[in-house]
Amino acid sequence: MHDRVALEIMRGCTRGCRFCQAGMLYRPVRERSPEKLFQLAEKLIAATGYEEMSLSSLSTGDYGRLVELIKGLMERFAQQKVSLSLPSLRVDSDVKEALAQVSELKKSGLTLAPEAATQRLRDVINKGITEEDITRSVSDAFENGWSSVKLYFMNSLPTETDEDLHAFGDVARLIIEAFRQTPKEKRGKGLNISLSSSTFVPKPFTPFQWDAQDDMETIASKLALLRRSLKIKGVSFSWNDPELSRMEACISRGDRRMGEVIYKAWQRGCKMDGWREHFKYDQWMEAFRDAGLDPSFYASRERAKDELLPWDFIDCGVTRQYLWLERERALKATVTPDCRGGCEGCGLRRFPGACPA
Ligand code: SF4
Repeated sequence: MHDRVALEIMRGCTRGCRFCQAGMLYRPVRERSPEKLFQLAEKLIAATGYEEMSLSSLSTGDYGRLVELIKGLMERFAQQKVSLSLPSLRVDSDVKEALAQVSELKKSGLTLAPEAATQRLRDVINKGITEEDITRSVSDAFENGWSSVKLYFMNSLPTETDEDLHAFGDVARLIIEAFRQTPKEKRGKGLNISLSSSTFVPKPFTPFQWDAQDDMETIASKLALLRRSLKIKGVSFSWNDPELSRMEACISRGDRRMGEVIYKAWQRGCKMDGWREHFKYDQWMEAFRDAGLDPSFYASRERAKDELLPWDFIDCGVTRQYLWLERERALKATVTPDCRGGCEGCGLRRFPGACPA
């Protein structure tokens, strides 16, 4: 899946999605100029021989000179038939023109990440997009010949209810309808929607760093509900292994004692755990027992507002006070706007020159 040139077009993101650690850690936004990117792209293609290039960043649709960049890359690489893919495009970006450009090249799938299926829950996580944004983006893509859409969601987000889960199917049906509405001569053949869901992992330095992850039984029943409700023609559904998500939750919010768990797991033969066939959940649980620790303490426990957190000694720029404020807004489903339109006071400006925005 990484067998291509990854051209990093910018770093940082100011959207403020509340589940996203990278969006907090990599502030502020820094864009590379198209001129610099053309140089890098030429060097990378010449040095690797890859025939595919992806524009990588946290939010490629927000890159200020996206259309100019895509046009320039096309001009340079059309003859070599290098295909261009645009991952992690936000659905509300003005991508129409960019899509039209890319459609002249080899088509890769369109990837959208609504993350949550109802407006209420998207507001909780501050994914400030609407159903209309989704419809508009896929309709534009269909009109430009796309017929394959990948959708990324998360299950087990804070405040999630069954209604939020049933709505996954509604989003899929919305896209099917948008495909039907697209004139046959414009759209590609045979709509294919791959919908995937990963279990939410609360991360340090995010507004959800105090939140509990669902326990394994709750996750299993939610995934069962999704499997049942997503039996829709043309839609394939996949999900991340919840046992891996639980381990991710333990390690990402672990304290120094997790070191012993990791060491004991290694002694028990746990290696290359990121590959499902090598992941031995039972051995990890044994390692917790060996170390006298309970994984629920790390994964499925809500922290108090004033609890000392293991990573509190690191200052990533965004303050703990701001993160707590954002958590309170999340629980009220109140949206915080993109700070490119005005500083929201995340704390970065305590460091002179750190945020030029
Ligand atoms: S300091 Fe203000 S403008 Fe800069 S990243 Fe933080 S909220 Fe956004």
